[in-house]
Amino acid sequence: MRIHLTFLLFLAWIWLSRYRAGGTPGAIQGVLFILALFGCVLLHEFGHAFAARGFGITTPDITLLPIGGVARLSRIPDKPWEELLVAIAGPLVNVVIAATLIFVLHASVALDQITDLESPRAEFLGTLAYVNVMLVLFNLIPAFPMDGGRILRALLAMTMPYVRATQIAAWIGQALAIVFGILGFFVNPLLVFIAFFIFAGAQQEAAMARFRDARR
Ligand code: ZN
Repeated sequence: MRIHLTFLLFLAWIWLSRYRAGGTPGAIQGVLFILALFGCVLLHEFGHAFAARGFGITTPDITLLPIGGVARLSRIPDKPWEELLVAIAGPLVNVVIAATLIFVLHASVALDQITDLESPRAEFLGTLAYVNVMLVLFNLIPAFPMDGGRILRALLAMTMPYVRATQIAAWIGQALAIVFGILGFFVNPLLVFIAFFIFAGAQQEAAMARFRDARR
């Protein structure tokens, strides 16, 4: 597992911004939340890696970036249903985490271990559950090469040649990346970064699929 330098800078930034707003306790809580969140992102990547291993594909490394994790597979599964299962496995992990957190939260309210949902612990767990739900929804947007886009490519590849399926998924991914990019300017600069990664990633994967097809 590798942790990208920008991720550590991101943690430092969270610490500083929370410190200014709420002192040391606020800073600790902010950093703990980000660590828990990225723990969930890491488990998501392990989900992909675990499913890939089932098809004999190894994962040499997983990198954590401020915008999420990347599991580098030794090869991209070219059988559509293999890619479908590998792509679904990641978001499925976040569904399980969110369901578990919500269950724990409700169980502890029922057991009176926490008296109200306003307690810091309940707020922490509740926010973490919410963020996991958002991770699922975000990852399922069909913006190839994001998980939703991989699912789309796999479904298309079941009815047409792999290269054509990849090209269509890449076009949709790039169109969505442009929408994200424009939206990001008004909403969140992080979205502009993500848009850039999606746009470049879609281009690269489409070229790779064409290259492999030409050599066949
Ligand atoms: Zn994923």
